[in-house]
Amino acid sequence: MSADLDKILNDAENYIKNIGKFYKDKLYIEQAEKNIYFKEKEIKLDTIASQVMDKGISRSPKAEKQTVVDLFGNVIEQKEDWEFTETLDDMNSRICNCMKCVLGQTRTKFVFGVGNPHADIVMVGEAPGADEDQQGEPFVGRAGQLLNKILVATGFTREEVYICNILKCRPPGNRNPMPDEIEKCEPYLKYQLELIKPKIILALGKVAAETLLKKREPLNKMRGKIHTYNGIKMMVTFHPAALLRNPQWKRPTWEDMQEFKKIYEQLKDKKN
Ligand code: SF4
Repeated sequence: MSADLDKILNDAENYIKNIGKFYKDKLYIEQAEKNIYFKEKEIKLDTIASQVMDKGISRSPKAEKQTVVDLFGNVIEQKEDWEFTETLDDMNSRICNCMKCVLGQTRTKFVFGVGNPHADIVMVGEAPGADEDQQGEPFVGRAGQLLNKILVATGFTREEVYICNILKCRPPGNRNPMPDEIEKCEPYLKYQLELIKPKIILALGKVAAETLLKKREPLNKMRGKIHTYNGIKMMVTFHPAALLRNPQWKRPTWEDMQEFKKIYEQLKDKKN
């Protein structure tokens, strides 16, 4: 063990109760694990764990919660274990039993998202529908088939994109998402996007667009513009389910997709 690491751990002993994990320059207190890990080197320090002393720092009552503190024991923030994941699969496995809102009680299947985990394009709808709820995959019903056709006609394949929703569970009767459901579920989407790191997002439909842009506006006012969501470029078009009900919107959707592709190609050229 290096002298530096010794010093860090000695400091920690004076301030931190129980067990923890170092990551970068922060120390995470965990309930679930019985070791201290120095993450970069994956060094297990079982013996140190038992020596850490009580300075009255409270831990989350939930096992998956982690309290982030600095080396002086000041609580910086609380995080959940999925916020430390590094892959979509890992994240999915940690949140798939989520019961943070009422939709957890009525869903058949949790619908995380599907597609290339390193996609340049992420398409975001509002919430799973009946078919998605049954199959656990977004955009699999008639709307999904139409989305596939739109992608192919625009020159994209479904493998090139990642598709997900703001809510991971179906609202009963396909009602619109409630504000508290969005508030509880949107952090999952944000983290998904952090892992995927797309160049551009396409919001599908008014609810998705309004939710991501945090403003209420007619869909037509949001279309045809480049917006930003958490630092990622974003455009807006109709939801494929709306196109099934209103075929007259297919032409404007086609125009949106042409513009979307143009912007995407420009972004691709810029980064490559
Ligand atoms: S909709 Fe989101 S917050 Fe609500 S239970 Fe499902 S995953 Fe959890």
